[in-house]
Amino acid sequence: MDASINPFENALKQLENAQKTEPIDEDIYQLLRHPQRIIELSIPVKMDSGELKFFTGYRVQYNDAPGPTKGGIRYHPHVTLDEVMALAAWMTWKCSVAGLPYGGAKGGVICNPKEMSEGEIERLSRGYARALANCIGPEVDIPAPDVYTNPQIMAWMSDEYNKAVGKELPATFTGKPIENGGSEGRGISTGVGGTFIVREVAKKLGLKAEETSVAVQGYGNAGSIVAQKLDEMGYKIVAVSDSKGGIYSEHGFDPHKILSCKSEVGTVGECGHIGVLAEGGDFQKITNEELLELDVDILIPAALENQITVENADKIKAKAVVELANGPTTPAADEILFEKGIIVVPDILANAGGVSVSYYEWYQNMNDAHWTEEEVFEKLDTLLTKAFADVSEKSDNNKTDMRTAAFILAVHKVAEKVKERGY
Ligand code: GLU
Repeated sequence: MDASINPFENALKQLENAQKTEPIDEDIYQLLRHPQRIIELSIPVKMDSGELKFFTGYRVQYNDAPGPTKGGIRYHPHVTLDEVMALAAWMTWKCSVAGLPYGGAKGGVICNPKEMSEGEIERLSRGYARALANCIGPEVDIPAPDVYTNPQIMAWMSDEYNKAVGKELPATFTGKPIENGGSEGRGISTGVGGTFIVREVAKKLGLKAEETSVAVQGYGNAGSIVAQKLDEMGYKIVAVSDSKGGIYSEHGFDPHKILSCKSEVGTVGECGHIGVLAEGGDFQKITNEELLELDVDILIPAALENQITVENADKIKAKAVVELANGPTTPAADEILFEKGIIVVPDILANAGGVSVSYYEWYQNMNDAHWTEEEVFEKLDTLLTKAFADVSEKSDNNKTDMRTAAFILAVHKVAEKVKERGY
């Protein structure tokens, strides 16, 4: 990730591109360039060593005109306020593209969970939830998992929040374990949503699953699931990577075997010999940068921001980029990819499966319902297929890239809500 690129400036530039193409009222445009509420926390945590450490945490509630704000919480050593503001803005547009009755928010804590014990992570998570308790709620702001947070962390936060407010309000957090009111399917929903989007973009390109090669950058919750599910659907996963490195084989990999190998040896980069599908097939070790430049049909960035930049955009050979990560492509790179005729399915559409199933979880909690995984994914398929068709049609009609088209659709809807409510 290129840390010199400010993600919030990218988010504003994307908004500006939409405004240039199909403007909304100037005052509302200015309003949508500013986050509504920024909360900064200093969270005291007793470490296992006995030392008291203070962690900086954020929650940005970007805009609540469409409804309660919604978005995940990220644990990462490189979290910055600008990143959280960008992610909160993207959540606002994402919820709008998906047609969810939510505004956008995001949280982040500067920490390295890979170097913390389970007890330290629990105390940090409880501390974060306690400090935020009077700023969140089922009809106010609804957090969820993001990079390096998971259902267990949501369970701790939800428990701590309930204690702080003296009530059981499970709908305050989504992405909870099933036993704590989580939804069937939520854990794999970003990846499964990604497969519906890949299916639609392959259709647009006139490609059948069996003839479509795919490279996946990142092997966490989104990347590992999309790789496995696409493999089951007949697509050929020819390259995968994680933060430590990657592998490529023209024979394709078995992503299930890669995942169990990664959990043993720590990185997919060491799993080539295990996962190659063809008998006697060979593989190559590659870097994360090399993965992005492979001659594949579909490239799926599923890690962090700023991976495709002005430095490498010219070398991208994929026919389509499906952004399962948030913010992997910079605005300058977008222009280059568009000129090269590469379809970029933007994050605010491509990875909306996660927040959409979060919405289903919230809805089930509010209505004391329980849907099967099949029901959840049927609804998700309908939702994402329609969102893809809307954005695709808009981009064809306006002759713009899909990101600008998605932004136009999203921003106009949010602007309408802001106007209705007054400001
Ligand atoms: N963190 C996910 C995202 O970036 C999911 C957010 C949610 O479920 O609220 O979309």
